[in-house]
Amino acid sequence: MKKQRIAIDMDDVLADANGRFREYAINHLSVDLSASLDTPNLSWEHAFPEHQPLIRTWIRNEGFFAGMQVLPDAQEVVERLTHRYEVFIVSAAMEFPLSMKEKLEWMNQHFPFIDWRFIVFCGHKYMIKADYLIDDHEKNLKYFEGHPLLFSASHNLDLQGYTRVNNWREVEAMLL
Ligand SMILES: [Mg+2]
Repeated sequence: MKKQRIAIDMDDVLADANGRFREYAINHLSVDLSASLDTPNLSWEHAFPEHQPLIRTWIRNEGFFAGMQVLPDAQEVVERLTHRYEVFIVSAAMEFPLSMKEKLEWMNQHFPFIDWRFIVFCGHKYMIKADYLIDDHEKNLKYFEGHPLLFSASHNLDLQGYTRVNNWREVEAMLL
């Protein structure tokens, strides 16, 4: 029987992107972004408007993506998912071209069981065809034609209307 396909986002799903912004804010701005990042529906893109030009340079800094932590239990659960499903990693990396090399290396380092053929760097995600999409942003889930799964992140806690998974243990319970 043909395996069902799962598409999995990277930032704030596999990798702790919000945590990386927090870390950079403390080191480069001496400000704690936590309060801002923990405000529902407010992501780094809207935190500290006066610092946005600087914040946006971080994403283009070498090492920004490379240094992200893996979110808890992601490695174990994704590895188990690959036994039962066809798993693709789908990341909108085109906006930040430097990120692509780092993201690929990060995947090889932390998820070595994901073959490069199953990693997709893209712009829009609405053309992605899969049975499930695990993502933290509504813009990616909204037009998805399979089962969208909203992965909880501080910026989406108020978002309604999607099946929500709060962490990788909940993904495990739902799909394995
Ligand atoms: Mg994301």
